[in-house]
Amino acid sequence: MSDCLFCKIAAGDIPSRKVYEDEDVLAFHDINPLRPLHVLVIPKRHITSLAHVTPEDVPVLGKILAVANKIAQEQGSPDGFRVIINTGRIGQQEVPHLHAHIVGGPEPVGPMLKRL
Ligand code: 5GP
Ligand code: ZN
Repeated sequence: MSDCLFCKIAAGDIPSRKVYEDEDVLAFHDINPLRPLHVLVIPKRHITSLAHVTPEDVPVLGKILAVANKIAQEQGSPDGFRVIINTGRIGQQEVPHLHAHIVGGPEPVGPMLKRL
């Protein structure tokens, strides 16, 4: 997708602080980190959100989760981490290219959600 921010990052047209890359996925530091570790993992091929996945996307979704622990171990969160995938309007997804937030650090990240 030519007009997608994360497609441009995946293509190298917009710079990012890369932490992991293979033929299918790219991981890079969030520009506005909310915890000491805050990395985004994206499929290189455009998928708008978890609400848009098709059966052909299943392997790359598995890969995104499978690299999370490797990233956490290597980026200063060896005792665990949290994975967040905001989806659509209700999930308050801001960038419409599927991405997993990997958040962590030396301290627990906090409650899962604040009660409304
Ligand atoms: P969302 O709310 O869609 O789940 O999260 C989007 C995330 O992308 C936010 O945490 C935001 O800080 C991050 N982000 C937005 N623009 C950029 C960018 O240009 N570079 C990087 N590295 N992160 C970005
Ligand atoms: Zn995209």
